[in-house]
Amino acid sequence: MLDELYQAIILDHYRQPRGRGELEPPKITQEGFNPSCGDEVIIDLRVEDGRITDVRFHGHGCSISQASASMMTEAVRGKTLAEAHALIQQATALVKGELDGDFETLGDIVALAGVRYFPVRVKCATLAWHTLEEALKQVE
Ligand code: ZN
Repeated sequence: MLDELYQAIILDHYRQPRGRGELEPPKITQEGFNPSCGDEVIIDLRVEDGRITDVRFHGHGCSISQASASMMTEAVRGKTLAEAHALIQQATALVKGELDGDFETLGDIVALAGVRYFPVRVKCATLAWHTLEEALKQVE
């Protein structure tokens, strides 16, 4: 049952992605690529006063990679850089099956928990988060 619910959330984000598109400059742009699956995620980011005021993504790839990017934009918009770093850690740990404790604060991201059973898909699910991490390095 839980797996079906998770799959439904992933498909919903894939079919109706949140935060899909590009930002007008000035912006930070970071491209991410997962060669094992052919997934591409490009993140546009605007950071003002230490806070992510807007974030968009575009690209192409499998449903997990694109759904994860959609969840990422929804989760980090309006967050401080410290909060975004914490979310990156939590989301990647969740995907790898290494997150202990409370998942509920993660919202739809929790649907990525099922990916742990498919090691070949872990890079699909973490692509957007690793790309965001690289994008944030441009801020500091
Ligand atoms: Zn993929």
